[in-house]
Order: sequence, then C-alpha cells, then structure tokens
Amino acid sequence: MHNKNIYNNISSNPLDRVSPAMIPMINSPETKFDVHCHIFNFETVPKKYLFLKLPVSYKSQHDELEKLEKHLHNLHKKTNKDHIKFLANFIDTGNQESMKNVAGKLFSYYPSDTIFTPLMMDMEYGLQSKPLIPYSKQVEEMRKLSTSVFPHKILPFLALDPRNPNLFKLFEKSMSKGGGFFGVKLYPSLGYLPSDKQLMKIFEICEAKNIPVTTHVGGNTVHTTQRFIKVTGKQVAQSGELKDRVVRMPHLFRMSGKKTGEVLNNPKNWEPVLYSFPNLKLNLGHFGGTTEWLKHLKSPAPRIMQIINLIQRYDYVFSDFSNNFEYPEITVHLKKMLLSDSKIKSRTLFGSDFFMVLLASDYTKSRVQFEETLGPELLKIISHENPKNFLFTKAVK
Ligand SMILES: [Zn+2]
Repeated sequence: MHNKNIYNNISSNPLDRVSPAMIPMINSPETKFDVHCHIFNFETVPKKYLFLKLPVSYKSQHDELEKLEKHLHNLHKKTNKDHIKFLANFIDTGNQESMKNVAGKLFSYYPSDTIFTPLMMDMEYGLQSKPLIPYSKQVEEMRKLSTSVFPHKILPFLALDPRNPNLFKLFEKSMSKGGGFFGVKLYPSLGYLPSDKQLMKIFEICEAKNIPVTTHVGGNTVHTTQRFIKVTGKQVAQSGELKDRVVRMPHLFRMSGKKTGEVLNNPKNWEPVLYSFPNLKLNLGHFGGTTEWLKHLKSPAPRIMQIINLIQRYDYVFSDFSNNFEYPEITVHLKKMLLSDSKIKSRTLFGSDFFMVLLASDYTKSRVQFEETLGPELLKIISHENPKNFLFTKAVK
C-alpha cells in the first residue's frame, strides 16, 4: 500500500478544498446541493458513442446538428410527443461550445443559492474510439472554471480510471491546495472493478483525507466495448463455497454486451473496498437507476436491496437519487422508505444527473413534482443536510 504520509500536501479537511467565496453559502441553511450533474460537452465524448449514436462529437458537424435541432423543434409543434422536444433540448445543451456554457445552462434551472458538484467522465479508455478533446484538457478547463470562473458555485469531482498512466500525479495535483477539485468520480462499467489495485491505493488516500467518492450505479447502457477485460482486484463471491466472502478475481473476464454494464455496476463490487476502508465517504450514484426502481415497485429489486444493505452496514455510504424523477410513483415509494427508515433518510442525496436527465422528461416539471411529493422537510434533508455530511464531514479525524 502507498504511504499516505507522502501526500502531505493534500489536506484532510475538505473545507481546504473549497474557495473562500463559497464558505458563506455553505453556512447558509437555505443553500441546496445538486451532488450529481455534468457540464461536459459533446466534444469530450467519443465519436460513434453512446446515447444516440449521433455524430455529435465533431466540430465540423456542428452546423448539421444545429439544423437537426431546429428541425426537431419544428416537428414538435406538430405533435404531442414531447420526447422530440426533450431530445432537441438535450442536443442543444451538449452541443454548447464550452463546459462554461453548459454550466450556465445548468445554473439557469436552479435558484441562485445552489452548489453543484459537476462529475467528470474520462472516456479515453475502454471504448473503441477516443474523444475529440483529450481528458487532460478537460481537466485543465474544469480547474479554471472552479478556481477562477465559478469558485462560489462548483465543487468538481475528478474522473479517475485505473488505466490512466498519470493516475497518481493527476490525483495529487488536483486534490492539493489550488488544484480545483473536491472529490473523485468512478465509472466502473467502462471496464474495471472498484477493487482494482491502483484504485485501492487512491481510496486509501481518499479515506485518510476525507475526499468523497461518487460512482455510477445506475443504467447499464454505457459500458466498455472491450470483449475481454483484465481485472486485478478482489470481488465478493456470488455463489459456491466462498459465497459472500472476499475472493481474488480471475484475471481475464469475458464481457458480453448488455451483461457488461450489469456485472461492472453491481454494488457488491464495492464490498472489498469498504471492507478495507470502512470510513470512505462513498456515494452510489442513481440509487440503482430507474429501471431497477420500476422493478422495485413490484418486488424488492436485488440491486436496490444491496445498496440499502451497504447503507445499513457502513456509516459513510450514501446514495443519490439522480435521474429517477420521471415516474411519480417511484418518488412516492422513495418517500415511504425515507419516512420508515432513519438510516436511508440520513444517507439519501439529491442529485439531478443534468443534462442526461433532459432526455427523459421536461426536467423542470418533473423536478418540481419530485420536490412537491417529498415535501419541504424531507427535501431539506436530502438536498441540504445529507449533502453537507457527504461532502464536508471528517469521517477520519
Ligand atoms: Zn451521471
């Protein structure tokens, strides 16, 4: 294991990673937090990738996209299918020229006393093609945004991929004073396990320095295109004699399409991490995801039960409810859970998943509905009290 003393220049007080301009806002009881949002634009997403398989990532196609967007808006006037409008709004947002502009769009959806934790994505590994803008440039731009453009508004989370050869340098520089970053973001379905050897060294520092970690535990659409992935970490055995015990993973994993995301997004993959670092502040993003919640309405969905199980056993495991506002019946169910279980109530976080969430519905409408269903008291707990604990608590003194 790394010697954490060599990371002397990383403070163990999270507030040392906050700009002085933000401190009064953190102390105000009116402040809300959105702990799961994104401000990258399409230039940072590889060609032929993802959501729509639209050629969204090339500047030369900017005009084309603009036309398409206008066309979609016009089409919408002739139909009741709002989905066309949602798609147009989504394209318009991701197609902004810079992260600064996307951030501007994000801010416009909320009252001014809101603090955001934009989560980065590193799409240089695990996919067939590379993004137009290298990840290192994205990091520099984000650093500028948080240190000089929006120091009172954003607490960025740095995306770390264990395959990045500059992993430790990048981490150390970003988390040191003036580094501009506040937390760490993981996206295991891009082809690694949370218990990866390199990441375990990072988590050791995160625990010691009270750096919060957010990971994707939602939809399985986004995943590595690699057929085989080499896994160096440990895992909890799912069956057999060693069931529920931490075991070493086989070295080579065969991945197959849809199953890939399902395997790599499994909350159980975090067991070996939490076993080693029980005071790690961890947010399991999306609380399992909308598809799982729709199942959960009928009978307990395993993925959601596993998240709840981790919340019950570890004091610093949280889960944000981002991207789950589309169905009011899900919110009603969440409300029941919050009211009947004090641990879930104290660990659920408000997050939006802006601007991915624009694809699903009219975001303002569904968010207002979500907030009204929960009511002011619960809303304050999940959008103010709990985020403050997740972000600023010193779990390790
Ligand atoms: Zn997200």
